[in-house]
Amino acid sequence: MSLIIKLKWFIKQRWIHYLIGVSLLIIANLAFLIPPRFIGKTIDQIRSETFTADKLSNSVILLATLSCSLYVIIFFYHYLLFGNAIQLEKLLKGRLMRHLTQMTPSFFQRNRTGELMALVNNDIPFIANIAGGGVMTLVFTFIGTVIVFVAMIVYVDYKLMLASLLPLPLLAYTVSKLGVVVRRRFKDVQEAFGHMNQHVIESISGLRVLRSYVQERKDIEAFERVTDDVMKKNMKAAFTNTLIQPVIMTVVGFSYVIGNGYGSYLVFHNQITLGQLITFNMFLGLIIWPMVYFGEFVNMLKQGSASLERLEQSMEQQPDVVDANELVPVSVPTSIEMKQLTFRYPGASSDSLRNVSFRIEQGQTLGIVGRTGSGKSTLLKQLLRQYIIEPQRLFISDVPIEQVALDRVRSWIGYVPQDHLLLSKSIRDNIAMGNPEATDDEVLRAIELSCLKEDIEQMSEGWDTIIGESGIMLSGGQKQRMAIARALLINPEILILDDVLSAVDAKTESLILKNIRQQTAGRTTFITAHRLSAVSHAHWIVVLDQGQIIEEGTHEQLLYRNGWYKEQYERQQMEALSEGKEAL
Ligand code: ATP
Ligand code: MG
Repeated sequence: MSLIIKLKWFIKQRWIHYLIGVSLLIIANLAFLIPPRFIGKTIDQIRSETFTADKLSNSVILLATLSCSLYVIIFFYHYLLFGNAIQLEKLLKGRLMRHLTQMTPSFFQRNRTGELMALVNNDIPFIANIAGGGVMTLVFTFIGTVIVFVAMIVYVDYKLMLASLLPLPLLAYTVSKLGVVVRRRFKDVQEAFGHMNQHVIESISGLRVLRSYVQERKDIEAFERVTDDVMKKNMKAAFTNTLIQPVIMTVVGFSYVIGNGYGSYLVFHNQITLGQLITFNMFLGLIIWPMVYFGEFVNMLKQGSASLERLEQSMEQQPDVVDANELVPVSVPTSIEMKQLTFRYPGASSDSLRNVSFRIEQGQTLGIVGRTGSGKSTLLKQLLRQYIIEPQRLFISDVPIEQVALDRVRSWIGYVPQDHLLLSKSIRDNIAMGNPEATDDEVLRAIELSCLKEDIEQMSEGWDTIIGESGIMLSGGQKQRMAIARALLINPEILILDDVLSAVDAKTESLILKNIRQQTAGRTTFITAHRLSAVSHAHWIVVLDQGQIIEEGTHEQLLYRNGWYKEQYERQQMEALSEGKEAL
């Protein structure tokens, strides 16, 4: 029942739909009483030989009109109440989506994609079901039953009604006991379903890798275990679920036995007429449905509560990084400074950045290099504010970043991550993701700047070509350049390029970098790379090792020092030279 209370806000919002729907439902329940009463009376009239041809035709007309009216009434209350369920589903999905877009990476580390998808596709529909079918059954069960009970007392006999009610407490007891088990089992089912979803996502997206490692059979076996688990849990839930229905039928059966036995006794002793007994029997028939629905309602409610619990668990999780109470307005990022920043990922056992300091002014470029795993991407992510950092360590325009509005910071940034994300849309739509209103000329310019023009011209449908899921039909270098074009299109104040030129050849790399330098003159750029030629033009270069800056300076200064940078640069020059020779 607490579930209904939790949905109060929605019922309030759509009260008019509920009011009309429930009123029609009550009218229908009252109308259901007419045929039994009518037939009982007719039988009594036949017995007392007062039934005439006129009465017969009247009753036929009345019953036919009643059936037609009931058709219309039932249609409308179904329409109104189930319409509410559809509305709630849409609302909740929207809320969840908004919530998910605010979440930072640690949330997605805790909640896997498959489980979040199960929330959208399974749990939310179950919850919404309560707002439609649930409310309908609730009213049908309680009001429908009360109406029939009252009719039994008024039109037949209260003793007979009470006697036939005797088995009902047994029903309430068993259903509530079984309900607890049903709820627990449904929760297990939902969890197993989430795991299965995750497995499907990982298998499909990683199919190429699975195949190349000849792991398909193993994966199929693992998947079978997962589906087996879902099946077993479903069977268990279905088992308890199916126990409820027979219990109801048996209890109602007992009511029939009492109703008929004791009823016949009353007829025999002239306390009620034969017609009344038949009416009573038909009334009992009317009770069966609310009772059966009651069983379903219990299931629905338990299923819905299990789902709501899961949804609430997700919705309650707050984003790690939120806006401070007092924000300082910053119009443009005139400088970016890090002061002895140390950072550790949540749950990690060692720091990924240690005492990192640098300062760059607007329009300058910071190059970040270092061995793999040295913390380059981690450093860039600090600007995106995906994780909580110590206050007073990172400054934009000399204001601590935690006092600048999150939206503001993110609106300045054009971020090209190391693992680029492409959607299965057209090339144009992918590039225009950050600015869907961009004109064709603007998109074309971004394409030219990132040296993608020729590649696109060779595609069958130009920039309208759909690039498949995660850009499956593009080469690694094409994907990287698409991601660059996307960032350039929004003409950001701060451009962050995380190892985005690793898959293009040296010539294209230098062309793109030249274009970027021209396009982003006056903008601040952060660039990480393994190939040092990509950062050689930077105003300042930092070399990271195990999260610490071990060398820093301009390209020339670093070459002057006999450190990692110089050694790496010379090695790369030699390699380039020998590759050039091989190519000849
Ligand atoms: P590469 O050149 O391979 O891209 P990188 O210099 O960008 O490497 P980072 O991705 O910044 O390296 O990683 C730095 C360290 O932080 C690594 O030791 C890595 O294992 C760790 N790390 C990265 N992401 C996470 C995370 N989400 N949770 C915990 N540790 C992480
Ligand atoms: Mg990286």
